[in-house]
Amino acid sequence: MENLDIAKFGGTSVGNFDAMTSSYKVVVGNKNSRIVVISACSGVTNLLVELANGTTDEKIDEIIEKLRDIHEQIIIHLENQHELRNYIEGHLKEIKEQAKVAQKSTNDQLTDSIVSHGELMSSFLFVALFKHYGTDAQWFDVRTVMRTDSKFSCAKPVCDEIKVLAHDKLLPLINDKTIIITQGFIGSNTMGETTTLGRGGSDYTAALLGEALDVATISIWTDVAGVYTTDPRVVKAAKPIAELSYVEAAEMANFGAKVLHPSTMIPAVRKNIPIFVGSSKEPEKGGTWVRPEPQSQPHFRALALRKNQTLIVLSSPVMVGATGFLANVFSVFAKYNHSIDLVSTSEISIAITLDAGTTTSGKHEISEAMLNELRQFCHVKVETGLPLIAIIGNKMSENAGVITKAFDAINKFSVRMICYGASRHNLCFLLKDGDTTEALNALHQALLED
Ligand code: ADP
Ligand code: ASP
Ligand code: MG
Repeated sequence: MENLDIAKFGGTSVGNFDAMTSSYKVVVGNKNSRIVVISACSGVTNLLVELANGTTDEKIDEIIEKLRDIHEQIIIHLENQHELRNYIEGHLKEIKEQAKVAQKSTNDQLTDSIVSHGELMSSFLFVALFKHYGTDAQWFDVRTVMRTDSKFSCAKPVCDEIKVLAHDKLLPLINDKTIIITQGFIGSNTMGETTTLGRGGSDYTAALLGEALDVATISIWTDVAGVYTTDPRVVKAAKPIAELSYVEAAEMANFGAKVLHPSTMIPAVRKNIPIFVGSSKEPEKGGTWVRPEPQSQPHFRALALRKNQTLIVLSSPVMVGATGFLANVFSVFAKYNHSIDLVSTSEISIAITLDAGTTTSGKHEISEAMLNELRQFCHVKVETGLPLIAIIGNKMSENAGVITKAFDAINKFSVRMICYGASRHNLCFLLKDGDTTEALNALHQALLED
């Protein structure tokens, strides 16, 4: 189908009957919107992760009751309530059984299986809501096409297979009478076991399906009217950005702008598909277009914040003039599956940061075994809980004096580490601690307000 759009609605956009109704109106308002990807109702994934981490009998019952209530509040507005209730109760029964297993011992595969119920339940109710408003809709289990590897909790998509499967099983269902409603975030490996793409992964699902089906546009509908100059919930003066490049959007997402999952741009770039970000509640406000070549490329575009970074400083006098020290350090991190984020070096030491990441289980402990292995050839110092502010922009290094403004603004805060030079699009400050809201506001005022 020409001009096909794939629309993704996040948790708050399907969190209750009114939010679902606004999202429904967005879908039927665009005749090119034929495939809809949705998240679990807001709050549901967090509750399911709590169960997956293992909790008390009492807590299990309390969470099941909350899950029942979230979905019941939608069901009461719809037809065929008996059938819908049975469907939800079937999931709640399974969730409870799995939560009991997680009490004894948990693992990433079990976590993925437990959290997948969230998207399965919300998508089923969303189909019923379309029918309630007289629009034909069909539920589709995304796991039949969203093939991933078996790295549970942060599975990698197998794009060639997704393309073949999507053409085989999804494309034939698309027509101009029915809306296909499917789940974000979840997938399955070749054994048919449920996997997840990591927290916030529904944006990525939409982009992956968009790539597989070669759609014209990917629309990410959320609770803010586009991508802002920084998180509008933290900096009141933040403004929506009309157009962004893929690189800028990817840098923002990577450095913590939650509005887009960091991997969303990867499939879109491969097929040159523009991504629109807007508010499902207030679509009339417009939003942001993420495109290959936006008209403006300002030195300073946005700020992003990632909390809870870990700084590891490794020092060894033998590093002076020695070869292979960095290779040894990096190989230890690789062995323990930690991906290094920022790097800075001095004569006898190297400082690296690790991000908590976006795995579904939320687990990111630094293993003591890894630290011991590092201690065999260098001194190791670990600091945790540090905030990282990234300034995103363009060609910051190409003109003299550009970054002075940033240094002036950050001057009154304790900066633990600075990273600059690897990309023309970012300048990162790892702060010591303290009030990140104040630092973000100061930088925003200096760099992004007139
Ligand atoms: P959804 O559930 O729709 O996927 P998310 O909560 O994942 O929504 O992302 C939307 C949130 O991202 C916003 O409510 C906002 O607080 C946060 N956010 C962080 N940085 C930005 C930014 N630069 N622009 C817009 N929103 C941002
Ligand atoms: N429901 C999942 C989460 O909360 C995926 C998503 O919302 O994108 O992380
Ligand atoms: Mg999200």
